[in-house]
Amino acid sequence: MRKVIVQKFGGTSVADTEKIKNVAKTVIREKENGNDVVVVVSAMGHTTDYLVKMAKDLSADPSGREMDMLLSTGEGVSIALLAMAIQAQGYDAVSFNAMQIGIITENVHSKARIIDIKTDKLKKNLKEGKIIVVAGFQGVTEDGEITTLGRGGSDTSAVALAAALNAERCDIYTDVEGVYTTDPRIVPKATRLDEISYEEMLELAHAGANVLHPRSVETAKQFNVPLRVRSSFKTDNLGTLILGVDKMEIYKPVTGVAADLSQARIVVCDVPDTPGQAAKLFSNLAKEHISVDMIIQSYARKVSNTNDIAFTIDSSDLDKTIKTLDSLKKDLNCGDIQVNDNIAKVSIVGAGMIDRPGIASTMFQTLADLGVNIKMISTSEIKISCLVDKDDAERALKALHNVFELEGDETAVVKGDLPDV
Ligand code: ADP
Ligand code: ASP
Ligand code: MG
Repeated sequence: MRKVIVQKFGGTSVADTEKIKNVAKTVIREKENGNDVVVVVSAMGHTTDYLVKMAKDLSADPSGREMDMLLSTGEGVSIALLAMAIQAQGYDAVSFNAMQIGIITENVHSKARIIDIKTDKLKKNLKEGKIIVVAGFQGVTEDGEITTLGRGGSDTSAVALAAALNAERCDIYTDVEGVYTTDPRIVPKATRLDEISYEEMLELAHAGANVLHPRSVETAKQFNVPLRVRSSFKTDNLGTLILGVDKMEIYKPVTGVAADLSQARIVVCDVPDTPGQAAKLFSNLAKEHISVDMIIQSYARKVSNTNDIAFTIDSSDLDKTIKTLDSLKKDLNCGDIQVNDNIAKVSIVGAGMIDRPGIASTMFQTLADLGVNIKMISTSEIKISCLVDKDDAERALKALHNVFELEGDETAVVKGDLPDV
């Protein structure tokens, strides 16, 4: 049986026709290795950012459906161009969008989850020897409505396809040479990791390391898909392998640090201290598909018999959250609702911190020495996150990277430029 390899190329890797020609070469090389190849591509360069900007120029609150109709067009361009480039180099290729394949998602706009992928068409075309180019980031509901998986979601398209096709491996080609101990754009001497566990990568991705879409890691872990992050410009380098923790030795307490600048904190003040209030609050947010990250409830104040409930959300959900809370205020019988989106979450992640005391206190002391105020703290077995002022995030990240001895000798090469929208 021939092995299936899924490759995914991000926006910077397909930013212009010259780069698309290079991608075609990398794809063909994998085909020449005797494998069946399915390639997932993102929109060219910063196309998605420009599409979002145009929408915002026209409407303060564009509908989710029309946003998905708009944003899904970006990937439509790159799949056709890559298929042409592969054909021009003498190989048989065919492009498909999510609707043509049947990448079925739940009926939610802007962050739909994949629930099924039909493989008939894919298998038939692979059998015919074709290289298949698939549009990342997009899906379709059972009713034929276009959806998208959330920004950065092409990674998840690729891993889900790899799982559906029982692929040998999923290679995520991007503008850096793998997963680093932190974002090499912020700390150029960050160290590239040869391997990292699914669990740690999942925490890092959730903590703001956008090199992988968090749900791609979740899917890889669930279906045991071997996942690699590697460079699209130095294709001989193997990059970073993401794999099960039992296969790894743990040397350091902290594997990586990350900052997430797209958070907002909400404080619902003076919530009566009675059963069912938190359930009411968070079930209404869940109904609107708003994910909540950190949650803190204060001790009930004796005099007023009320609590404050503070939580964080992704700032892209802020308007929706405020609307939901406004409509709930009466029912909750609460006081003020305070909003702060000038904050960031700084996290340290590492399976090595389990049963190793002193890691949290080192993190807090490092922030204290910088004069950085901690607004909220949350932990998991392998992660500690602190909410800080946005302006403090970068120096906090650099200091934590330093104190946990993550710096290497080499300077990372970063190829992509940041969007100027
Ligand atoms: P693509 O367009 O290929 O999907 P992304 O911009 O989504 O690329 O992801 C790659 C970027 O992720 C890198 O350029 C880097 O700035 C950023 N990044 C953040 N944290 C990390 C990390 N820990 N390791 C590597 N890259 C990281
Ligand atoms: N094009 C989409 C985005 O920019 C999806 C992706 O790149 O993964 O978010
Ligand atoms: Mg990405």
